[in-house]
Amino acid sequence: MNPGKIGIMGAMEEEISSLIDLLTDIQIDKIGGRTYYSGKLNHQDVVIVFSMWGKVAAAITVTTLIELFQIQELIFTGVAGAIHPDLNIGDVVIGTRFVQHDMDSSPMIPKYELPLIKKTFIESSSDLKEQAADIIQNMLEENHLHQLISQDELDQFGITKPSLFIGEIASGDQFISNGEKKHQLRAAFPELLCVEMEGAAVAQVCDAFHIPFLIIRTISDCADTHAEINFVEFIKEVANKYSKAIVNKLMC
Ligand code: SAH
Repeated sequence: MNPGKIGIMGAMEEEISSLIDLLTDIQIDKIGGRTYYSGKLNHQDVVIVFSMWGKVAAAITVTTLIELFQIQELIFTGVAGAIHPDLNIGDVVIGTRFVQHDMDSSPMIPKYELPLIKKTFIESSSDLKEQAADIIQNMLEENHLHQLISQDELDQFGITKPSLFIGEIASGDQFISNGEKKHQLRAAFPELLCVEMEGAAVAQVCDAFHIPFLIIRTISDCADTHAEINFVEFIKEVANKYSKAIVNKLMC
């Protein structure tokens, strides 16, 4: 696949442990409070790391991947809260463009615009988007999904027909779990699919260093008052399994 090294970042620590199980020739480096696992995944040179949570934390991690580990491309997986009403728990989102919903230097600079960069949205330039879309569509087909996740688990989270969505993701240093904030986000960004706490920061870093990036999020909650329910269980039984299957196939 890629002749260079690929950084694989997960926003959930559990995702990282299941991906490390696939790694051979492992080398471990501890830098800045993070543990970086270098090795081979299906013959591809990779570095796997937990991003930590929030924009600054994720920016530190991805900058280290780029500058110290010299990655040539980044794949970032994690969970997110649904904002668009068409999305449900268990759906998967591939991000095409990213915005920081808590960026506001108005009145000097228009609200949401990144100061001095003069951009509100950062677009994902990865060539892996189409391949990832095929892999995810295939994974979500009923017979394939059942090989990954039992019917009991799907029932537990009310997952019936999970789908792939491709579009806009917003990030900010807030866990969104109330209807009013959700409504505000939808009003500010009508095409927004989901919200999380790292993607747009990672996009900004990758854009600054000209590193292609692919960001994939599994919907874990609907960013409302139920957002906390079964989070840990969901990561273990659904999001982890999705991420492992997607990354494994992408590295073939
Ligand atoms: N309650 C969880 C905490 C996860 S928090 C636990 O105890 O394990 C943060 C992670 O979830 C971040 O990676 C963030 O990007 C993502 N996330 C999922 N749903 C979100 C939401 N509704 N708002 C913001 N971030 C969300």
